[in-house]
Amino acid sequence: MTSEPLTTIDHWISGARVPGVSGRTAPVHDPATGRRTGEVALASVAEVDAAVKTAVDAGREWRTSSLSRRAAVLFAFRELLHTRTDELAAIVTAEHGKVLSDAVGEIARGLENVEFATGVPQLLKGGFSEQAASGVDVYSIRQPLGVVAGITPFNFPVMVPLWMCANAIACGNAFVLKPSEKDPSASLFLAELWKEAGLPDGVFTVVHGDKEAVDALLDHDDVAALSFVGSTPIARYIYERGTANGKRVQALGGAKNHALVLPDADIDMAADAIVSAAYGAAGERCMALSVAVAVGDVGDDLVSAISSRLPKLTVGPGAAEGTDMGPLITREHRDKVAGYVAAGAEAGATVVVDGREQDVPEDGFFLGMTLLDDVTPDMTVYRDEIFGPVLSVVRVATYDEGLALINANQYANGTAIFTRDGGAARRFQNEVEVGMVGINVPIPVPVAYYSFGGWKDSLFGDTHMYGPEGINFFTRGKVVTQRWPDPATSSVDLGFPRTR
Ligand code: NAD
Repeated sequence: MTSEPLTTIDHWISGARVPGVSGRTAPVHDPATGRRTGEVALASVAEVDAAVKTAVDAGREWRTSSLSRRAAVLFAFRELLHTRTDELAAIVTAEHGKVLSDAVGEIARGLENVEFATGVPQLLKGGFSEQAASGVDVYSIRQPLGVVAGITPFNFPVMVPLWMCANAIACGNAFVLKPSEKDPSASLFLAELWKEAGLPDGVFTVVHGDKEAVDALLDHDDVAALSFVGSTPIARYIYERGTANGKRVQALGGAKNHALVLPDADIDMAADAIVSAAYGAAGERCMALSVAVAVGDVGDDLVSAISSRLPKLTVGPGAAEGTDMGPLITREHRDKVAGYVAAGAEAGATVVVDGREQDVPEDGFFLGMTLLDDVTPDMTVYRDEIFGPVLSVVRVATYDEGLALINANQYANGTAIFTRDGGAARRFQNEVEVGMVGINVPIPVPVAYYSFGGWKDSLFGDTHMYGPEGINFFTRGKVVTQRWPDPATSSVDLGFPRTR
């Protein structure tokens, strides 16, 4: 049997693929087969430095481009992404493992951000106050930062880079992407589309790498800002090191998202939503619902509604017709998630459905869906972000007990309430200490004209990602106060300028 050749995944610098020269690479796998399919270059400090230098030069030019030219490039990029979605989705599925429809969905949600950024002429409008003082006008403008970097996780290899780069580039910056080394190929496809859309070389750069490349970006004098999405320990590290170096940083971290199910909820609606949000993309979503909090006597009905849905779902390769859930990203991660299921059982949780015992393809990094009942807050399955197809049900007596549980959690990315009671939902929206809230909506990822971000250990920094806050993050404000010689009123006044 002949084995297929390995793909070499290069950097993208100055509008072209550039092979790595550090001598270090990392393996890339097809999680559905377990086969090693590629080798991604890992950049050295010197390679990152060279890439950033080209971005500096390109950014100097790009910031002078007219807003209409930038919008034209974004429109062209949007069209290309739209027409080539299926090709890109196939690349995502081949390295990430998620089912094709889910990969298409991630591209669609990323595309929204490109569409938002096409409105850059409107988004960058400042304010203007004529006659703020006698003969004096005041106006505000927003200017690009220069070179900005994005460091992204494996679970959304298209959407998360698009959260960042569309706005960053629209605002006149040069953008350097350091994608996840686990599924790096989608970033090169995006780079090619940017080029085809007419973006000048060097404005969008990709450097692949691990900690060495990330640290080089964090320490580089010419990188003005870093946008990060990934796990909480790394987000905290990025924020601390980046800000210590005087950079603007937004670092989004991990999550443990709760669904609060009240006794009056429509159980079928809640169960459908919770199953989709817990097991979609094999639970590898930062907005996955990993805890269902059953209030009052709703627990038995909820557990039975959820467990009855699981046997109807098919686990298999993401590219295969009819698959509902694909594999996990790596063998190690699959084993770690299976270890959490074992730990939950050992700690006294009731294993209603055991993903380890389901019939899944032998090759590849597959694990079935697990449903744990009677989980308590002291168990590791509750405390840790598992990032796999494991749903824990915690039973509480009252709404207040459920709310207190959610508010005590270190993570605060997303949450959802299921109820028919508008007053209860409104109270929850007001009282819950979480950044994104769904009311009978399981994965409340805001549309692109709002901004995305959690609270507490789910976000380090002051600005949320994309939308209006993204425009602010990628620009610096400046206020200009102007007076022009007026032959009619010429005089000398040494007093401090006053507005009245
Ligand atoms: P990760 O933190 O392991 O990696 C994220 C990025 O950081 C990658 O580019 C990686 O190369 C880099 N990195 C890893 N270790 C590093 C180190 N020691 N020093 C410097 N850089 C390092 O995350 P992941 O496993 O790729 O992604 C899953 C995590 O991302 C989950 O915790 C998930 O909740 C989180 N996530 C959060 C959001 C959000 O919006 N809050 C969105 C998607 C994913």
